[in-house]
Amino acid sequence: MQLSGLNLVAGKWVGGGQKVFSNNNPTTGEKLSPDFREASDQEVELAALQAAAAFDIYERTTPEQRSIFLRRIAEEINNLGDELIQRAKAETALPEARLIGERARTMGQLTMFADLIQEGSWIEATIDRAIPDRKPLPKADLRRMSVPLGPVVVFSASNFPLAFSVAGGDTASALAAGCPVIVKAHRGHPGTSELVARAVQKAVDACGMPAGLFSMLQGTGQMGLQLVRHPVIKAVGFTGSLRGGRALFDAASARPEPIPVYAEMGSINPVFILPGALQTKASAIAETLMQSVTLGVGQFCTNPGLVFGLRGNAFSDFANKANELAHKFSGTMLTQDICKRYRESVEKAASVHGVQSSGKPSSSAQAADAAAVVLQADAETFLKQQELHEEIFGPATLLVNCGSPAELETIARSLPGQLTATVHGTDEDLAQYKNLIQILQQKAGRLLLNGFPTGVEVCPSMQHGGPYPATTDSRSTSVGTGAIKRFVRPVCFQNFPQSALPPELQNDNPRNIWRIVDGQFTREKC
Ligand code: NAP
Repeated sequence: MQLSGLNLVAGKWVGGGQKVFSNNNPTTGEKLSPDFREASDQEVELAALQAAAAFDIYERTTPEQRSIFLRRIAEEINNLGDELIQRAKAETALPEARLIGERARTMGQLTMFADLIQEGSWIEATIDRAIPDRKPLPKADLRRMSVPLGPVVVFSASNFPLAFSVAGGDTASALAAGCPVIVKAHRGHPGTSELVARAVQKAVDACGMPAGLFSMLQGTGQMGLQLVRHPVIKAVGFTGSLRGGRALFDAASARPEPIPVYAEMGSINPVFILPGALQTKASAIAETLMQSVTLGVGQFCTNPGLVFGLRGNAFSDFANKANELAHKFSGTMLTQDICKRYRESVEKAASVHGVQSSGKPSSSAQAADAAAVVLQADAETFLKQQELHEEIFGPATLLVNCGSPAELETIARSLPGQLTATVHGTDEDLAQYKNLIQILQQKAGRLLLNGFPTGVEVCPSMQHGGPYPATTDSRSTSVGTGAIKRFVRPVCFQNFPQSALPPELQNDNPRNIWRIVDGQFTREKC
């Protein structure tokens, strides 16, 4: 399929903007075709207004209609075939097998939300029937459920060109909730974005959905900010840097009508290796640690970037093994800019007084090539130097040796909010380090035992979020069925007759969904 380099605005491919940009193949450095046209101010405005118009229609669609639509998007993505994989590979340097897996995950997310909305319990229908003769005052009939927020802006992530991009988790959950979506595409993979947008457009047409339901715009963060500030926009989904997420959060909060921003940002994902585990499995843990650190060239938000253990021979053996493995790894990063930032971040951390480094963050002249690096410091240095608390996006990790169990706890308390925290330990370790686990629970959205945090399962119990600065809202998750809750709000109907209630709240329960009626979970009529 010939790429147009244009923007999809409410069903039409347009390119009225004057500015163009292009991207390079990160592996070869070669410029990729075509040039892409940045959306003009008028196109941004039109996308927003059309999304608002589409919301009036889309919020009235049934869960079955939305479910068919989501499944159709998955089908159309599949129909793009190998062209999608090859374009994504050329734009991101991610290996084919990873991209094929990511496409399956993307389609899986869409069908997961399709199943969820058909099943229906996610809207949390809650009914408290009237008690007219209650004394001293009668009780009204109260019925509550979730309703969609309105048009959502989604900022694609660089590191998941399919699963967290144009039709990724944010888009799928917003559409499932009943919200139109405008995607600000990532400039690292504009061709992949256009292909996926074409698939979504086909699904919109095939399912008779309003054209304004979905738009995909190419352009800069400034264009994205214009969308965030637009009065019809009601929420934002984002995955990327702390700087970017915070800028969007601040812009959304400064609006006359502030709106929620669900930004998933930096996380260093600390790993605590407790003495029993270190004594018995130092070498095996070092091996799996380095597999996790270098997976996807370290470009995962769950990359384990910090490792703590008690000083001693076992920790030295562990560090030596990790160093040895680091020397063997190099890979191509997503973009030259991301690689440049990786190299700078490693060099900045390595230059801190008291930090030792296993080597250089690049081993070749190619602008996007990165080598794995293991940095080492003691606890005192780590606690003093705030720059060591910042995420290094790429295949690097910092090993910190601590003088005592109390110092491990002090370190844990000093950490900012995280997506994950990991403990390696025996049963005896766990009994002895209860306080540490308690502290980590306050710091992270997901706690792992004897594993590593890369590889995030997409399922209802997943929590992919955490206290700031890991995200801007620690109550939310961007992975799993819970992600849909970001794009709805509760509404309570008081004393409405049956005929005027949504089906989900009617006595007959025509959708046969699980509800809470007078305090009891039930699918029965009431
Ligand atoms: P990014 O720089 O935060 O960019 C992500 C998106 O947000 C892009 O579309 C970007 O637009 C936009 N944006 C960035 N700053 C903005 C601002 N001030 N105002 C409005 N929009 C803004 O992230 P990236 O390009 O994916 O990667 C850069 C760095 O982000 C990495 O080196 C890494 O540190 C971090 N990162 C973290 C994660 C994670 O999950 N923790 C994932 C990916 C990246 P334009 O670039 O088009 O202007």
